[in-house]
Amino acid sequence: MGTLTADLPRLPEYCDHKLPTSCRLSSIPNCCACADERPHQSSYSTYVDGVGFVARGARWDRYCWPCSRTVPTPD
Ligand SMILES: [Zn+2]
Ligand SMILES: [Zn+2]
Repeated sequence: MGTLTADLPRLPEYCDHKLPTSCRLSSIPNCCACADERPHQSSYSTYVDGVGFVARGARWDRYCWPCSRTVPTPD
């Protein structure tokens, strides 16, 4: 794994996923998952057009697309 990102620089203040996921959060050193301070739950409220907020979202629904595809799991 990691052949595509092996030669990218790793910055110590970045979390382990930031560069591999190409996280779109450019203003903070953590990826979406590490920046997500919500408590872990079995479901997450997500907004559905015409319905409103429903408790069937996934934790990564609001992550940027590289993060939602890889879904890193912070310790
Ligand atoms: Zn991200
Ligand atoms: Zn991370």
